[in-house]
Amino acid sequence: MTLHAPPSNPAPLDPFDLVIFGGTGDLALRKLLPALLHRHVDGQIAEGTRLYGVARDARSDDEYRDRVREALQKDANADPRVAASLEPFLAKLHYRQLDLGSDAGWPEFAAEVGNDPGRVRVFYLAVGPDLFALVGDRLQCHGLSGAGTRVVVEKPIGRDGASADAINNALGRVFEEHQVFRIDHYLGKETVQNLTALRFGNALFEPLWKAEHIDHVQITVAETVGVEGRAAYYDKSGALRDMVQNHLLQLLCLVAMEPPASLAADAIRDEKLKVLRALRPITNGNAVNMTVRGQYRAGAVEGRAVPGYPDELGEPSRTETFVAIKAEVQNWRWAGVPFYLRTGKRLPERMSEIVVTFRHVPHSIFGELTDGEHGRTLAPNKLVIRLQPDEGVKLWLMNKVPGPGGLRMREVAMDLSYAETFGGRQPDAYERLIMDVVRGNPMLFMRRDEVHAAWQWIDPIRNAWEANGDAPKPYTAGGWGPTAAVALIERDGRTWHEDAD
Ligand code: NAP
Repeated sequence: MTLHAPPSNPAPLDPFDLVIFGGTGDLALRKLLPALLHRHVDGQIAEGTRLYGVARDARSDDEYRDRVREALQKDANADPRVAASLEPFLAKLHYRQLDLGSDAGWPEFAAEVGNDPGRVRVFYLAVGPDLFALVGDRLQCHGLSGAGTRVVVEKPIGRDGASADAINNALGRVFEEHQVFRIDHYLGKETVQNLTALRFGNALFEPLWKAEHIDHVQITVAETVGVEGRAAYYDKSGALRDMVQNHLLQLLCLVAMEPPASLAADAIRDEKLKVLRALRPITNGNAVNMTVRGQYRAGAVEGRAVPGYPDELGEPSRTETFVAIKAEVQNWRWAGVPFYLRTGKRLPERMSEIVVTFRHVPHSIFGELTDGEHGRTLAPNKLVIRLQPDEGVKLWLMNKVPGPGGLRMREVAMDLSYAETFGGRQPDAYERLIMDVVRGNPMLFMRRDEVHAAWQWIDPIRNAWEANGDAPKPYTAGGWGPTAAVALIERDGRTWHEDAD
């Protein structure tokens, strides 16, 4: 049954200016502009708002609109409301040719964008991180860095602690911390926000949310895609930097943090920071037991033969496309509770989920009873938060199988599917996040000290890998990573969660 949610009724925002540096790039065309279009459909982008794409190519407003129209056509075809909004949206969109490495054109651009000092101006840096400092300096130089300005920076924020600090120092010289929005789009996903709602909006979970009742937590972010023609770029990064440092650690923080006093941005970010600082360091001494890194070889994913990573790159490489880590949060709440993290490319399915496994009942009145059908004993309860696809929450409980023939028990899921329960379209994370930037609400963005603390945990892992000299373990594309990743959890008498449905 679909329980229609109360209409979300998003509040319209005062007219604002939003400039996308890198307005012709993949991120802008595939994520940012579609997100803005959907907010336009819902009436959040008022008349008078000006949207700009900026890149180095020469092109007119109309040529840019043609390119963007093409990118948005799929969304328009899927929904008549979007189709009706497309041309009015494009009319608000402009193109300006600027090279961030040169001052040419900046005075005219600054005069145009800075002509209404009272309005909010968002500069979205959808360009490589090597350009972040340059953009900051230019905005400052041309009087665009003042109070109404907000800048959005994308991952990767550095490739290690030192380079992240250098970027943050450069931004910090120009902007106040409250003007800088470090985006991790995982935090804008509905189910991720729902994790906070579940934990702190229900009396049920919080009393159980600790080592006494929770056996372990698993966080998986699995991709079926490989490096998709970007092998040279990916090879400088790898799964630890690309996925664990940001997305997986942010999810871990939301599961593990203490209840914040309120939803105030800093109340939440203070608690996340404490989790990052409480992570047990992984160094040369324990990296072998706590981490597994892998690299895919040729195989088949979703029925399609795919090449191995070295074939795509054109040479052998020591960059990992898979990581599994046994993390530990060293505080009273989580003492002895492992957080198993895993992420990789060319895995069997595209799936992100958090699985919280509770402890077994202290005593089974059912003896060593099995359900006869699956041969299982009493299974522990699990709370599974599915971020993608099929966003939703499942609570696995033991139930009696109906019918005569003795007491047969079986694990059954109470299933809250977002699509079925709330109906309608699930907004993309960028929609929420961009509007939060315009509103000046940094709750779902990373503070500078969080980024720093995350790298402080990640850097020693990479250093340990380099010191021990082992290459990533090969795994066949279409499998769940190297066998060592299975051993990592099975050594502890546990298994990776598989949805029994
Ligand atoms: P991309 O497709 O290579 O686009 C880069 C954009 O920047 C283009 O519009 C390019 O246009 C412009 N640009 C490059 N150098 C410039 C300069 N000196 N002055 C002005 N404009 C310049 O890259 P992308 O995939 O959109 O990614 C952009 C950033 O977001 C990267 O840091 C990436 O790591 C990050 N990111 C991307 C995604 C994603 O889904 N794509 C997700 C998360 C993070 P011209 O070359 O014509 O100037």
